Formats: sequence, structure tokens, C-alpha cells
Amino acid sequence: MIYLDNNATTKVDEKVLESMMPYFTEEYANPSSIYDFSKKSSRAIKEARGVIKDFINANDEKEIIFTSCGSESANTAIKGVLNYNKAKKHIVTTKVEHPCVLNVYKSLEKHGYKVDYLSVNSNGDLDLEELDSVINPETALVSIMWANNETGVINPIKKVSEIIKSKNPDTKLFVDAVQVAGKIPMDVQEMGIDLLGISGHKFHAPKGVGALYVNSKTMITPLIIGGHQERGKRAGTENVPYIVGMAKAAELAQNALKYELTEVKRLRDKLETNLLKNIYNARLNTAVTNRVPNTTNIGFEYVEGELILLHMSDLGICASSGSACTSGSLEPSHVLRAMNVPFTAIHGSIRFSLSRYTTEKEVDFVCEKMPQIIEKITAISPFQDELAALKARK
Ligand code: PLP
Repeated sequence: MIYLDNNATTKVDEKVLESMMPYFTEEYANPSSIYDFSKKSSRAIKEARGVIKDFINANDEKEIIFTSCGSESANTAIKGVLNYNKAKKHIVTTKVEHPCVLNVYKSLEKHGYKVDYLSVNSNGDLDLEELDSVINPETALVSIMWANNETGVINPIKKVSEIIKSKNPDTKLFVDAVQVAGKIPMDVQEMGIDLLGISGHKFHAPKGVGALYVNSKTMITPLIIGGHQERGKRAGTENVPYIVGMAKAAELAQNALKYELTEVKRLRDKLETNLLKNIYNARLNTAVTNRVPNTTNIGFEYVEGELILLHMSDLGICASSGSACTSGSLEPSHVLRAMNVPFTAIHGSIRFSLSRYTTEKEVDFVCEKMPQIIEKITAISPFQDELAALKARK
């Protein structure tokens, strides 16, 4: 099996699993209890909070809230800011956000919020002038992802924050950083971020744990109300083993960052260059630069993405069309549509996402097999004239 779908989820690192094990069967005390037995689990959570604080360079570990996933972090951030201050009714996001942001915004529209959805160009780059033009005194919140899950395109968060704060210093910025954690350095202070969400299972921790950064100047109303855990910002007995595991994964990811930015990028580039060179109807759906190091999104013109994925799956190669949340539906990706990817390529677009576990041998195998797969599928395409014209042009 060759796993090139690491933007959907990642394998749990063995060291992460090892770090979690004692907290299931030995140190299983509720961290809020007062007897000595609970000290180890409450200390483990405190240490994990410190690790996540360092991972994103927050100022204070009190600014970190543990959640169950990236979607909960986004929901808590968005609804939390808006419910705390209900006076302002204008909110902004982009057309290419993950559904955990986009669908929250759509539901808020039904509850009286005016929403601006920012455009991107054909490279997937955000229109900063449009951002500048929409911020006004009524803007309560802007949500902009740090990197896109389907294309890997990185948004210029520091510039985004500067534009927002220069137009309205009270507007809060939430950054969905789920696809950058472990791939590029993160510094919430340097970037001017008010709230930021990450998800453990995207950087080799298990599914079911995430974190939300809320800077000390930002107030939120909690989404989950109950006990006093997470300083009253997220009720529910802390998931000690998973929190410990995510902190371990963050440490490992931080140590592997250089490898990610050089070796993982080199393998991604090798895969991309080979496919574009050896498959005449392949096109890169983004610009070459300004992407996280592990992701490429390639459109195979006049062929069907699902069919490509099935042929790949027969050879044990895992990748995806669209995001994990939208694949399975026949709707073309909202991200590629927003980028105006030509209709001839949008249905045949495949996202390959590597990790630090991806080997050169695996990449070579995919480079060898993909031209054969695409050739087999194009042979039965009803668009033979168009394909011949495309071949002649190459
Ligand atoms: N944000 C982005 C950019 C994502 O890619 C994902 C998951 O694919 C999420 C949020 C949601 O994360 P989770 O699956 O942990 O809820």
C-alpha cells in the first residue's frame, strides 16, 4: 500500500502511541480529582499545553484549549467570538475554506449575518484588495485558512492580519491551521492571529483530538457548556491519552520540520515533475510556488477522477479527488471551481499528499504507474478529438 492521502489523515507515529499508552491503563485518573493519583494526569495535561503553546509560539499556555478535532476548533472559534459580542453582524471568509468553516458561515447567514466570501485567482491566491475593501466597522470576524487542504496553497496570513487590523482593530482573525501544522513553521504572535485551530490526526497523532488557540485579548462564549475544564472554555473530562499523544506528535513534527521542508518537498516535486512531463493531458492546478511542501493537485484532462482513483487503488495507491469530506459526491470540488479550473480538468483532478513516511521507492512506483493508468483511461474517453489536439499542442 502506498499512502499519498496525508491531507485526509495520517498514520499515528509509533512514539506517539507509546507516549499515550500509560494514560489508558495506569495513569487513568480524572485530572480534576484531588487525590494524589490524579497528579500525574493533570501534570501531563499541563505539560502538553506547554508543548502546544511552543508549537505555535503562543505567549501563554492559558491561551490553549484542547478540543476533539479541527472542526470543533473552528466551530468554537467562530461561534464563540460571535456569541460573545452579538452586536456586530458582518463576517468574512474565503470561497475555498474547509466545510467546517464554510458551512458554519452558511448557517450564520440564515441567522442574520452578512457574509462576504472572498475570491481566489486561478493559482488559488487570495484577493487581498477584496479583503481590504470589505472590512468595515461592523466586521466582527474574518476566518481564513493558513493553507488549503486540496491545493496546499499558503495564504499570506501576516499581510491578511495587517490589512484587517488597519481597517478595524476590533475585528478578530480566526486561522484554520489544520493543513500547516507540521508542514511549515507557525508563529501566532508574529502573524497577528487572534484564534487558530489545529487537528492532531493531520500530524501523526490519533483522530479525536485538536487544539484551539485564543489569544488573551480575545473573548469567546464556550460551545460546550458543563464543568470548569479548559478554564470554562470547553467542558468535558479531558481526553488525557490523546492530549498527551498530540503533544508528542507536535514535538516530533517540530523536530521533523526541516525534513518536511526539504526531503518531503523534494519527493513531492519529483512526483509532480514526472507526472507533468510524462502525461500529456496532465496540468498543475496551482502555481509551482507558495504551497505546503507535501501537496500537489493535478488535473488529468478529459478523464474522470473517480475512475483514476479506482485504477490507482487496484495497485494499492491511495490519493483523493477533492477533500475527504466531498469525495464520494459527484459535485466537483468547490475549491477548484473557485479557482476556475477548466471544466475539462476539474473532474479529473487528483490530490497527492505525502508525509515524512513517504519513500523514494513509493514515489518512483507512482511515477511509473500513473502514465499507464491515464493512458488506459484516456483510451476509452469519448473526447478523442480533444485529446488528440491536446497531444499535438504538447
Ligand atoms: N480544516 C482543514 C483545512 C482540513 O483539511 C480539515 C480536515 O480535513 C479540517 C479543518 C477538519 O479537521 P477534523 O477532521 O479534525 O475535524
